[in-house]
Parts: sequence; C-alpha cells; structure tokens
Amino acid sequence: MNKSLFNLSLIIGLMISLPIQAQEVTWSIALHGGAGGVSANLTPERIAEYELHLTEALNIGKEILNNGGRSLDAVESVVRYLEDCPLFNAGKGAVLTADGKHELDAAIMDGSNLMAGAIAGVTDIKNPISTARMVMEKTPHLLLIGTGASAFAKENGAEIVENEYFSTPARLEQSIRIRVQQEQASPIGTVGCVALDTFGNLSAATSTGGMGGKMWGRVGDVPIIGAGTYANNQTMAISGTGHGELWIRQVLGFQVHALMLYKGLSLQEAADEVIFDKIAPMGGSGGGIVCVDKEGNVALVFNTGMMHRAWAKSNGEWGVGVIE
Ligand code: ASP
Repeated sequence: MNKSLFNLSLIIGLMISLPIQAQEVTWSIALHGGAGGVSANLTPERIAEYELHLTEALNIGKEILNNGGRSLDAVESVVRYLEDCPLFNAGKGAVLTADGKHELDAAIMDGSNLMAGAIAGVTDIKNPISTARMVMEKTPHLLLIGTGASAFAKENGAEIVENEYFSTPARLEQSIRIRVQQEQASPIGTVGCVALDTFGNLSAATSTGGMGGKMWGRVGDVPIIGAGTYANNQTMAISGTGHGELWIRQVLGFQVHALMLYKGLSLQEAADEVIFDKIAPMGGSGGGIVCVDKEGNVALVFNTGMMHRAWAKSNGEWGVGVIE
C-alpha cells in the first residue's frame, strides 16, 4: 500500500471507530418497583400506569447523571419519587403490618467509600430514604430504628407525617384480605435504584414498607447492608426486592459482589447465580434484583412473573417493563 493510500485508510478507520468510542458508557442507572406474581387485576391500563411512573422516576435519575451529577443524588432522588407515588410499597402506599400500621425500612450506600445509612421500623418519616442518607452523612452510626430514627429525622428537618398518611384504599383492602381471608402476603412494591456516575462512583438505595401482614417490629433485608442493598466501586451496586428473610440469609447483595471480585464472574453471571441458584431453591415467594457494574453494564434478574423495572445508559439505550 502506498503512503497516501495508507493515510486514507487510517482516516477511514478512525472515522469508523469514532462513533464506537462516542458510545462508551459513562453513566448508567437501573430501578425497580418490586417483584411478584402476575395478579388478575394487572390490566393493560394498570401496566401502562406503572410504566409511566417508572419512566418518570428514570428520567429524574437520567437528568442528574447526564448533567454530571453524583450517583448518590440520583438514587436518592429516584427513590424519593417512588416513595411519594402511592402505587408502590414504600412511603405513601406502603403495606400494613398485622396490627394495621405502617413500619418502613430504607437504606442507601455509597460505593466509593463504603459508607452507608439505614433506618428501620419507622412510622412517621415521609421520605425514609433521605433520613437514611442523613444517618450516613450526619452520624457516626449506620442504622437507626423506630423512635430514635424519628427523633433524629425531626431534629434534622425531615418531613414528619401521621402514620395514616402512608395508607391507600388498595393497601387497606389488602390488609383486610390478609387478616380476614388469610390471603398470602405478597411482597410486591418495594422500590430501589442503583447507578454509576461519570466519576466512576456506584450507589444503591432501597425503600420499603416490608412484607404485608408482617409482625410489628419485623425488619427485612432492605436496611441490612449486604443483603437487600449494597454498593462497592470495586464491582457493582445492587438493590433487591422479595422475601427479605431469604435475602438476609443469603447475604445476597454481598454475594453478587463476592462472586464478581473473587470468582471473576460477570455482573449478569453473578446476578443469575444468586437469584436462580441461591434464592430459588430456598422457596419463599421469589423476587428480583437490579444491578449496575463499574463498566455501566446493567442486570435485571427476577424469578417471578413480573418486576417493575426501568434502566438507561449514557449511550441512549434504555428500557421499561412490568411483566416478564
Ligand atoms: N424485601 C422486602 C422485605 O422483605 C419486601 C419486598 O421487597 O417487597 O421487607
């Protein structure tokens, strides 16, 4: 090849490779609004309603990340939106305990320094995820419970509400079905978000009313760091939804991290292994996880008929879904 022909082919080669480089993933985000079996009242209209709110939540996170914001801010803002949306089992719309109250759990984790904050069994904090973040940033502790968490939230200006604020007609009806008709408590509706930002930092946030009809005082996997919520810049960030006792017994979030770090599995391989090989054989009502890794890969894995979910990457790829 003569020199000018060589230069020409070099330029063409560069032009071809430029769009590929431009598509490099600099941020990514994934969120869920709970997993469970497909119920008879899941009409196309209802699915559309869920997808609308999941997309709105996703857009909040995308905007923060696209403007160079931090993953910690993105996951907190997305979860706050989902807590305020009555469709989900977190904040307004949370399920009821066996004695007819709402007790909420939430956690947030910063994968850049392994700092985390969580609250459990709170009855009057409007947005538990923001108080969890305050625990991380303003106290030497990681997990505050019940009235201690509420007192801390009040002192720090968090919005406090009556317990009835969290009730919706749908949850009250569900609570009666669980108590009177012994309906199987369904874990659908916990919310969570994970994100990678342009600084390479991973964060995770999860918020829930827990399992419908739970004993008062019961705490699930969500505020247990390494179970339902985990983030580590070395590997990935994860938020889970499902039968919390199983998530805790399997230390599920940390397992995904460990499978990637010590066994060299990809994000998808590790996520599949924990859901299908670890959780599924333990029975329970199943569930799912959303994860992003340090390269911006996204994994959404569930062993139930549906998981409310949405995800996006800086290269323009995105998706939203409810049923399988
Ligand atoms: N994992 C939650 C809990 O056990 C429930 C759920 O995800 O729906 O508290």
